[in-house]
Amino acid sequence: MKYIGAHVSASGGLENAPRNAHRIGATAFALFTKNQRQWMAKPLTEAEIASFRAACAELGYTPAQILPHDSYLINLGHPEREGLEKSREAFFDEMRRCEQLGLDRLNFHPGSHLRKVTEEQSLDLIAESINMALDRTHGVTAVIENTAGQGSNLGYRFEHLAYIIDRVEDKSRVGVCIDTCHAFAAGYDLRTEEACERTFAELERVVGFRYLKGMHLNDAMKPLESRVDRHSPLGEGTLGITCFRYIASDARFDGIPLILETPDEERWPEEIALLKEFAATR
Ligand SMILES: [Zn+2]
Ligand SMILES: [Zn+2]
Repeated sequence: MKYIGAHVSASGGLENAPRNAHRIGATAFALFTKNQRQWMAKPLTEAEIASFRAACAELGYTPAQILPHDSYLINLGHPEREGLEKSREAFFDEMRRCEQLGLDRLNFHPGSHLRKVTEEQSLDLIAESINMALDRTHGVTAVIENTAGQGSNLGYRFEHLAYIIDRVEDKSRVGVCIDTCHAFAAGYDLRTEEACERTFAELERVVGFRYLKGMHLNDAMKPLESRVDRHSPLGEGTLGITCFRYIASDARFDGIPLILETPDEERWPEEIALLKEFAATR
């Protein structure tokens, strides 16, 4: 079963996320459980938790169809103590919110070394940050997203993801989310079926599909290996539509949220319908 959706708005109340997803024909969705541009949020109330859970149950969304994303401010590999501690506290809070909402995974960008420490030192900090959050929470998997490698962002090589996973103590609660635009911008070709075969064989060899807990389906605005993170509507970027047909019709991507983060929300219904069609005609 393919779960296909988009990163929808939760403004006006978290229960609006499943409602917005349902309205566009989505069988999966992503959301921020708090304002993504602020460090702290008020704790969730019992009423907020109950109405989110009720809306998900009513509309048929299970945790395997939901991929919450954490705040962009968090840097779990921060080279300085103050920034690191602030990030770790905020990440723990995000994990706890997911736990309270009955969600089983949290998608995040690994972090940045800010050119103050080596890549390895920052990756070690990220793994340590994940271990700390897992120690303090239950039932939520930390899902590391690959990045385009802009600036000093880590996670642009599958090896970075594997390096972190290697150092996480509880392997049952760590996973990855692959963003097609980020992968392409980082130098992983996905423009043809053969290129997809090669790139995903490499993912299997370096990380392993057993860790795959979600996908972000985005076309790319910039060329291969640009290291620039700019998304395009499906089929309108430098990636092209083949990659999305490939993913929608390949069983290795069954049972996990496949999430659009494409720029034009108006087109999500047709993009979702297209992906569903690809999935149905495999
Ligand atoms: Zn992301
Ligand atoms: Zn993404």
